[in-house]
Amino acid sequence: MSLAPAPRRLLTRLRALAARGPAPLAELVHLVAAELVTEVCSIYVMRPGEVLELAATEGLRQEAVGQTRLRVGEGIVGLVAATGEALNLPDAQNHPAFAYRGETGEDLFASMLAVPLRRAGRMLGVIAVQNRNPRRYEPGEVEDLETVAMLLAEMIAAGVETPADLPAVMPNAFAASPLAPGLALGPAVLHGPAAPPATTLADDPEAERARLREAIAAMRQGLDALLDNGLGVAHAPEAQSPELAASREVMEAYRLAAADGGWLRRAEAAIASGLTAEAAVHHSAAELRERMRRVANPYLRERLADVEDMAQRLLTALGGEAAHAPAPGAVLLARRLGPAELLDWHTRGIAGVVLEEGSPSGHAAILARALGLPMAAGAEGIVEAADPGDEVLLDAEEGQAVLRPEAELRHAFARALEARRSRLAAHEALRDRPALTADGKRLSLMLNVGLALELDRLDAVGADGIGLFRTEIAMLARGTVTDVPEQATFYARVLDAAGDRPVVFRTLDLGADKALPGLAHPPEDNPAMGWRSLRLGLDRPALLRRQARALLLGAGGRRLGIMFPMVANVAEFRAARALVLAEAARVRPAPTSLAIGAMLEVPSLLWQLGPLLHEVDFLSIGTNDLLQFLFAADRSTPALATRYDMLSPPVLTLFAQLVERARAAGVPLSVCGEHAGRPLEAVVMAALGIETLSMQAASLLEVKAALASADLGKLRTFLDALLGADDGAASLREPLEAWAQENISF
Ligand code: PEP
Ligand code: MG
Repeated sequence: MSLAPAPRRLLTRLRALAARGPAPLAELVHLVAAELVTEVCSIYVMRPGEVLELAATEGLRQEAVGQTRLRVGEGIVGLVAATGEALNLPDAQNHPAFAYRGETGEDLFASMLAVPLRRAGRMLGVIAVQNRNPRRYEPGEVEDLETVAMLLAEMIAAGVETPADLPAVMPNAFAASPLAPGLALGPAVLHGPAAPPATTLADDPEAERARLREAIAAMRQGLDALLDNGLGVAHAPEAQSPELAASREVMEAYRLAAADGGWLRRAEAAIASGLTAEAAVHHSAAELRERMRRVANPYLRERLADVEDMAQRLLTALGGEAAHAPAPGAVLLARRLGPAELLDWHTRGIAGVVLEEGSPSGHAAILARALGLPMAAGAEGIVEAADPGDEVLLDAEEGQAVLRPEAELRHAFARALEARRSRLAAHEALRDRPALTADGKRLSLMLNVGLALELDRLDAVGADGIGLFRTEIAMLARGTVTDVPEQATFYARVLDAAGDRPVVFRTLDLGADKALPGLAHPPEDNPAMGWRSLRLGLDRPALLRRQARALLLGAGGRRLGIMFPMVANVAEFRAARALVLAEAARVRPAPTSLAIGAMLEVPSLLWQLGPLLHEVDFLSIGTNDLLQFLFAADRSTPALATRYDMLSPPVLTLFAQLVERARAAGVPLSVCGEHAGRPLEAVVMAALGIETLSMQAASLLEVKAALASADLGKLRTFLDALLGADDGAASLREPLEAWAQENISF
């Protein structure tokens, strides 16, 4: 879009109109028609259902306002909204797309110039001018109307219009898979692209241009410093590692883009047309993002992140930091999210999360469940479609996110919220009762936790203990591996909270999607199968020993349970246990009992069960990782999330065999993957003989309720018959669900 300055008088008057407060669209169209000397000026706004409605006109019949409607793609106006391109037509009525609307009285007007009203990639409507004479509008006139359209879009977004005139931007419903249960309703906060600035119009373009130049200089200086110091350019470049060289290349490309910045010139032009420096940066970055999005080349599309990053840096340099603090109860919208980022947002008080990509066993999802933060993923395009502050309704029970919900939907939502409350209240009654099945089997239901703030959940849900304490989560929250005394204090607090209930601490499970910035981690093609978890601990024994010491000190003479993640063979278990025992020999007071176990997450360990069962004090099945390696299906790839099933013959047969082997060896066996927290899976595992299930707090009472109504003996008979059929079924979920419908109350 051209950004040549429109007539200054029009811009000045538009700004004056904005400054007066809410201005009706009617006044705007009057002003534009008068200043641009056109006989007609009309604004069509986007209404729910992809419909453009005539919202204001100067020159067409007033009766048509609120009546004339065109679908996106229909008529000239609809075509402009569909393509996002302006149309300049000397003889509009003979254009193939023309759709006649008699009520407008437009028969009189031959020529038409229609320009999209678009902001941050979203179509808000169309502004059109018309004249009787058949003529093509001059390039300067087109530029003027485009500038007006840009200003108008900014004014609308800044809330200048009255609610009645405000384009009712379409409500958007997105199907999304639930990752952490719950409901939330609040204003959107976006992770990634910068929030649009609060002030969009400025009176002094010179001052704004000077601010932009200063900010650009500050940004470039920052980038240069990052290059020179951060990547060590000045010192012996020939000695650089390939990784360093690669990082330099990326940074150089980034710096070049920042220096060249055709988009920055566009920002300057936008300032000339009356925007603040912030609004101009935001607008130009949004435009560039939109152009890049249409590019098929994945490398170039990846540069989108750079543009976002750069725009963010510029806005920060312009003093725009405050834009990132979310309103309380906000719903976070993000393309992807790592666990550290989630924690960061959590501390800022968000009420729910909608992701475009994410899967149930990803760590961000696990964390969301632990924090009781509703989360859903798979809402493709939601980040794009939303503006910060838009209302978002998140139903992470059914799997839906709705942007700008309508009143009816809000009411239905309130009813769902109520139903959920009463279901949870019914489960409350089970809190202080032991987990007993209908046929009298007693199970241990434990918690998976990782943060101090989750410890109160133990009493809140009546858990039997902590079956998996993810020690790395606190480190991720802090952004660093803490020292021994600090760790010891933290572990002591966990044991204090548990009282006489058992706690199993898992040693650091860093790497893959739980990368700590301080821990130099080479780039890997397959980080989930990479240098992570116990491998990292064995290669950096000081890290593991220090943690063992902290755990023993924290236990302070109480009983202690420690387990290792991602054990691939017995030798690794032995090596890790030896490190712990070496520390245990030194730390006083010694724990009253020290149980050392392994997680079953890597399939190779299944073929060393003989020696393993001899040496471990307990085993815990980590279904998240075990299933990803068993099926060769990345746990954080959304497209694979439902492809392979825990309730399938290979997994269930394996579980039955594991139960038998562990029982014969007298070794306690538990399950601590996410599947343990799903009622149907939990009941099936119990029927196979698993007696300890460890899960996130939000699921515990629901699982207890399902177990209370389940006759495990009956279920086992049914299950054996299913497995006995050995018919190559990919999943037994359907028949098991049907059985559960009849026999279990969830
Ligand atoms: C697992 O893999 O099942 C597990 C419990 O560990 P995490 O999810 O932390 O990898
Ligand atoms: Mg794991």
